[in-house]
Amino acid sequence: MRLKGKVAIITGAASGIGLATAEKFVAEGAIVAVCDINPDAVEAAVAALRAAGGEAAGYRVDVTDKAQIADMVGDVKARYGRIDVLVNNAGIVMDAQLAKMTDEQFDKVIDINLKGVYNCARAVVDTMIAQGSGVILNASSVVGVYGNFGQTNYAASKFGVIGFVKTWAKELGKKGIRANAVCPGFVATPILRSMPEKVIQAMEERVPMRRMAQPEEIANVYAFLASDEASYINGAAIEVTGGLTL
Ligand code: NAD
Repeated sequence: MRLKGKVAIITGAASGIGLATAEKFVAEGAIVAVCDINPDAVEAAVAALRAAGGEAAGYRVDVTDKAQIADMVGDVKARYGRIDVLVNNAGIVMDAQLAKMTDEQFDKVIDINLKGVYNCARAVVDTMIAQGSGVILNASSVVGVYGNFGQTNYAASKFGVIGFVKTWAKELGKKGIRANAVCPGFVATPILRSMPEKVIQAMEERVPMRRMAQPEEIANVYAFLASDEASYINGAAIEVTGGLTL
């Protein structure tokens, strides 16, 4: 029960890594606000978390919409009185090589993966400052450290997230707030659904452990970083790759 009584908002919490993180947080005693753009999946996630004995509330929120975020943050504070953890996990891919990338692909990925992270952090930071405590965790990627073929937009967004974290760690550390990024390699989630089996196999061969991560293996890292056990980890970008980048 490392997160007992902590109130956490998790974006993109209805699928993949976000859902596994919500499950892990609830198992560790946290109260979880499940935030996702997909309303049916939010409902299903909240029902599953409650069935597992957890306390959870669902919010159909688009992280590019500041009014929706403000309503959610207001409601979470009204219900639970505080916000201890924000996990900025929502993200998408819209891949194309630079010569083929459209403005729509570029703007959409930046709006969700980068501005969405800023929007949510901006919406909770005053509450965390007033509390004198808080943890802001953020989904980056190995692509946010090393770049990747076909991912100009995604790489820019994930490098940007690490820039946020290093800046927020400096600004907010003295106010009792920690900010960190998690940089997964390949994780078996629906975000990879568009990839052909052959590509997935080739990806797995590049990993020293010869397999993708399961979403739970990333959720465990978020849970540790959210807990008081990580009390001196601030401004870090933690690679969780099975050794992919060695
Ligand atoms: P996923 O597609 O399974 O889940 C993403 C969730 O975000 C979905 O439920 C989706 O509905 C939600 N979402 C999308 N746009 C949204 C918006 N505008 N507002 C609110 N919610 C929105 O993906 P995943 O693999 O679990 O990825 C989670 C995060 O981890 C992403 O930021 C991704 O970039 C990052 N990541 C994933 C991998 C991987 O291999 N799966 C690797 C590195 C980083």
